[in-house]
Amino acid sequence: MSDTIAIRGARQHNLKNIDLDIPRNCLVVITGPSGSGKSSLAFDTIYAEGQRRYVESLSAYARQFLDLMDKPDADSIEGLSPAVAIQQRGIPRTPRSTVGTITEVYDYLRLLFARIGTPHCPICNQLIVRQAVAQIVDRVLALPEGQRLQILAPLIRNAKGTHLSVFKQLRQEGYLRVRVNGEVVSLDSNINLNKNTAHNIEAVIDRLVVRGNMAARLADSLETALDLANGTATLDIIDDEEWTFSTRFACTEGHFEIEELEPRLFTFNSPHGACPTCSGMGTVFDKADTSDEAREKIELFMRGQTCPDCKGTRLRPEALAVTISNCTIADIASMSIAKIGQFFQTLNLKNNAAEIAAPLIREIENRLAFLTDVGVGYLALNRMTATLSGGEFQRIRLATQIGTRLVGVLYVLDEPSIGLHPRDNRKLINTFCNLRDLGNTVIVVEHDREAIEMADHLIDLGPGAGERGGKIISQGPPETVIADKSSLTGNYLSGRKTIPPPPDIRQPRGHLSIKGASGHNLQNVNVDIPLGVFVCVTGVSGSGKSSLINHTLYPALARQLHRANTEPLPHKTIEGVAQIDKVIRIDQSPIGRTPRSNAATYTGLFTAVRELYAQLPESRVRGYGPGRFSFNIKGGRCEACQGDGVRRIEMHFLPDVFVTCDVCGGSRYNRETLEIRYKGSSIADVLNLTANRASTFFRNIPAAQRQLKSLADVGLGYLRLGQPATSLSGGEAQRVKLATELARTATGKTLYLLDEPTTGLHFDDIRVLIEVLDRLVDRGNTILVIEHNLDVIKRADWVIDLGPDAGENGGNIVATGAPETIAEVPSSHTGRFLKEILT
Ligand code: ADP
Ligand code: ADP
Ligand code: ZN
Ligand code: ZN
Repeated sequence: MSDTIAIRGARQHNLKNIDLDIPRNCLVVITGPSGSGKSSLAFDTIYAEGQRRYVESLSAYARQFLDLMDKPDADSIEGLSPAVAIQQRGIPRTPRSTVGTITEVYDYLRLLFARIGTPHCPICNQLIVRQAVAQIVDRVLALPEGQRLQILAPLIRNAKGTHLSVFKQLRQEGYLRVRVNGEVVSLDSNINLNKNTAHNIEAVIDRLVVRGNMAARLADSLETALDLANGTATLDIIDDEEWTFSTRFACTEGHFEIEELEPRLFTFNSPHGACPTCSGMGTVFDKADTSDEAREKIELFMRGQTCPDCKGTRLRPEALAVTISNCTIADIASMSIAKIGQFFQTLNLKNNAAEIAAPLIREIENRLAFLTDVGVGYLALNRMTATLSGGEFQRIRLATQIGTRLVGVLYVLDEPSIGLHPRDNRKLINTFCNLRDLGNTVIVVEHDREAIEMADHLIDLGPGAGERGGKIISQGPPETVIADKSSLTGNYLSGRKTIPPPPDIRQPRGHLSIKGASGHNLQNVNVDIPLGVFVCVTGVSGSGKSSLINHTLYPALARQLHRANTEPLPHKTIEGVAQIDKVIRIDQSPIGRTPRSNAATYTGLFTAVRELYAQLPESRVRGYGPGRFSFNIKGGRCEACQGDGVRRIEMHFLPDVFVTCDVCGGSRYNRETLEIRYKGSSIADVLNLTANRASTFFRNIPAAQRQLKSLADVGLGYLRLGQPATSLSGGEAQRVKLATELARTATGKTLYLLDEPTTGLHFDDIRVLIEVLDRLVDRGNTILVIEHNLDVIKRADWVIDLGPDAGENGGNIVATGAPETIAEVPSSHTGRFLKEILT
């Protein structure tokens, strides 16, 4: 294997026929302005080809689709390894997917509970096994010593004296199996019953308690022993084939029974373990919504009520009757990852249980440690993946990959620092280094200064976005790029260029006051939010920022101001709402979930364009209205692909593949529609224009100008109008939303909420973004951003810092005030980092 990945003539999207050699087994960071071609290189060229090679190595069935998979536009790519992409998209949206299930930690927990869990009767709270065994043992112990031996001896020695060989054979499997009166019973053969002492029997009980189903079997055996002693039973040793387990667990009072202690009992995704009332969803619904299909939808799930039977734990009573150290598996699943680590550290198991549990606990602890390292130690295992942020999901996948300990893999990651506080950043970067040190190549698309500086090899793309990007500006060790005056990245890294200092501090024109917010980890938070200024909400990941802003403030305001059907997390009141008339959340979620949405449709620009096309003389002659130019409805669109421009091919075990529609060639429209031309261009040609080009093209159409100018203002001039929403990055989606807002006529009393708007943005893009946000503030509006980027935080008029730490160690206001004030608060993690850059 060569020691570089050699790429020649890469032309995917905007890449300008570039050649490059990427060192293998290194940490490689690709940086450059948003839209410069980083993803086109990392994902659409390197990763895509790695995947194709992988498919090539698979079955003939998979290979027949190879020609259909889009081949990256490049002359040659040599030196690739199997590639794994760790992205922020693709979060499982079914309510059945949790942090525990996707990390496999829950699977190991299930195994652990099946092996060493102790069942209790939920009605009388007896220890099911201990009681059953103890009663029998009590009876045995009550007998004179000689008689005890008499009772137990038949279990290990039959009349023919063949016990020894059978014993040896069965011992390997851990059980002695016998049939009594035709009934099969079994006995743990590792227990030496020859020396029949009370001490020995106690040792037996000790083992019973910890060894789950084996205990029940032995209980049966001892019961049988009594029968044998009383002469009410006869005994012979049976063949292997006839052997079956007797694994029923029952409360001696007859309240409660467990069929078998097995891993399936503890999963809510199987009828064996799921609460029958809610089918393992933890939530029950109104009658109208209860179709099985609907139940699996996260949107509906969120509207349900906690299941009255399992109390949201999703498990059937039998599963909840089993504990380890007084915790049910549901109790453990509701703890944070950090807390589970402590649980296992203090768990004191006795000999045999400790031995059985050790390998399982080792697997669990390993995974917990990786998860903590990537900064998600505050998450609980029962947290549904659908409620995770993209960054959290990606970091979990990263931790899971480290757990596989694969070598020789090419990992491609997409801005993994998103949502991470500078405090936790270093640990994340260390995990890339670990992956590399295992013998892998790690390619990371990243804007984060620290990650860039840690790279073994840095590739800087630019100089601009879209058509104006796609070139390699500088590459090599970070020092080389930093020294390169032609590199925008180098100029910011070296301080030759900086994000301009804040304007004079603006005075608020009032306040919103949140009182008594207590959702998730928030600890009765009271906080004032100044209006008419730029406010940053900060704090480590998991400190409660989005609980406070996205899940309390926003839904409460949307309900009051817009009658939205949104349910805020618990809080007492929010005062001062009359001072604003609109609340608008501008987040990183896609502007549409299908390839049918794009920047043109979302901003409303496409409406104006379709009307323009319907007004053309040829359209009038043919009677084409604006609907004819929509690819969403029948009429003008290509029916072969129903206006998608692509067709989906299901690959069974692989992700679906999209191929260009062979009828319309990807244009989405039928031939007749494409015949209508404005200045020589069809409606499909318009969708292919960048916002900047479209601005020139439509310079005489005022109705289109406002949206196009806004797109340019937020730095999206390079974006093709028809680029499918599903292929836009989160940062681009957010900026499309910002552009839409900028194009509206403002009332000046709007509160804008933004969650990490710097995602996907280069230093220079951040400069542009701040200008746009400043402009909204200058019109009297309020900007409230959740942000980790210190360049943004230092420019805020007011900072609200949450923490001090994550999960239950967070949820408080640590400090509020101007950035300079926060910098003086020693208990604030944000303050510590602010102090460094403010001085
Ligand atoms: P970066 O990752 O640096 O932000 P991208 O590689 O995503 O940049 O984009 C580079 C250029 O390619 C941009 O002009 C972008 O709009 C375009 N582009 C990206 N994805 C697609 C796609 N699926 N189809 C068409 N153009 C795309
Ligand atoms: P931040 O936005 O500061 O990263 P969050 O508000 O997302 O923090 O999280 C604060 C705490 O609340 C964390 O312990 C997190 O695990 C928990 N949490 C957040 N969202 C949910 C949810 N939907 N369900 C349960 N717990 C949640
Ligand atoms: Zn239930
Ligand atoms: Zn088509």
